Amino acid sequence: MSAVPLRNSKAAAADVRTVTVLGATGSIGDSTMDLLRGARDRYRVEALTANSNAQGLAKLAKEFGARFAAVADPARLSELKDALAGARIECGAGESAIIEAAARPAEWVMAAVSGAAGLKPALAAVDRGASVALANKECLVCAGDFFMQRASQAGACILPADSEHNALFQALGCGNREELVRVIITASGGPFRTWAAADIEQATLEQALKHPNWSMGQKITIDSASMMNKGLEVIEASYLFALTPDEIDVLVHPQSIIHGMVEFSDRSVMAQLGAPDMRIPIAHCLGWPDRIVGPSARLDLAKIGQLTFEAPDFERFPGLRLAYDALRTGQGATTVYNAANEVAVAAFIAGKIKFGAIARLVEATMNDWIRSGNLAPLGSADDAISVDHKARNTAAALLPQIALKAS
Ligand code: NDP
Repeated sequence: MSAVPLRNSKAAAADVRTVTVLGATGSIGDSTMDLLRGARDRYRVEALTANSNAQGLAKLAKEFGARFAAVADPARLSELKDALAGARIECGAGESAIIEAAARPAEWVMAAVSGAAGLKPALAAVDRGASVALANKECLVCAGDFFMQRASQAGACILPADSEHNALFQALGCGNREELVRVIITASGGPFRTWAAADIEQATLEQALKHPNWSMGQKITIDSASMMNKGLEVIEASYLFALTPDEIDVLVHPQSIIHGMVEFSDRSVMAQLGAPDMRIPIAHCLGWPDRIVGPSARLDLAKIGQLTFEAPDFERFPGLRLAYDALRTGQGATTVYNAANEVAVAAFIAGKIKFGAIARLVEATMNDWIRSGNLAPLGSADDAISVDHKARNTAAALLPQIALKAS
């Protein structure tokens, strides 16, 4: 049975639901807490976590009367304890405390820790059969097969929180797996959608950070500019919904109003629309299998006037092509793709490589792994984390020669 419920087959949720937010102080965490703030009578907060923002975490834990608060950085424990003094909230620090937060008995868990550090906590929630709203990309990109298998075995329900996957999740409910022809993930095209390849090559950090529609963190905004983010989403969709690369299309849609579509065998295409506001997909996950009242702006299509579409350009945005290559290669190649991209983006932010070199470093790292025969199926979270670490080392080793090479 798929861990992503394709129909609203679950019984209606209990009156008061216990929830845990992993990564409560981040951008997705902030949107989630905002939704919880608006529906206090329906949710009770079990645990909240952060990396190092002890003050922000303590403030949220007190506001929501959480039972447990944890920071990943052990050096922040005393600060957290001081900030929680007198509040009768248990607290902890370190990776084990984040995992403990996930393992505590909340029915619904938002997995919004950033990076590979999100994998083990999300697995802890999955293993006890919780409903897990999945924002963290690495769970799928680094360990997709394994993660979805574990969810299925534990009877966990994976609720896709990323806007495109949430759109597919909603549209997929309109038909059966056998009736599905393909899914379509939309992409804004980012700030360089209309730029010539030579200009994209030389783009500055400031230009890459100007996303036309979404307000997000630095890494994901740069990934949107390179369309690596869309590549990561293609990979995520493949693992989440058990789709082959040929069943996933990307369509550039600059207005970011349609987030995803599903084509069925009778040629009906079901789309999910909404303003570009992460609180909409998160509200869907939070309310599922019901719907809650969301605070986001209502969609005014007459005001928007036009929705336009373009085919993606795999030449100007090679990162997207590489995602399909990684999926077709399998055997952990998507883990290598993600790790190399993280190294490349960090190098671009540090001014060590040009924007155009991001995709070249990812391609060189993937080719190195394929040539060396190091790719193998991933059987555990530790396997995935080990490939992630080793691929980062490969990318770091290749970085100087990529930095020197002209496009
Ligand atoms: P942020 O960087 O804004 O927040 C990350 C959260 O995780 C913070 O609470 C941070 O704590 C915590 N954290 C960071 N590192 C660790 C660690 N090592 N151990 C435990 N906790 C840690 O990220 P976003 O909210 O933007 O994204 C979260 C995830 O969701 C990412 O995987 C991202 O790709 C994905 N996503 C994000 C979208 C968006 O619109 N932002 C859209 C779709 C997916 P602290 O505050 O202390 O640093």
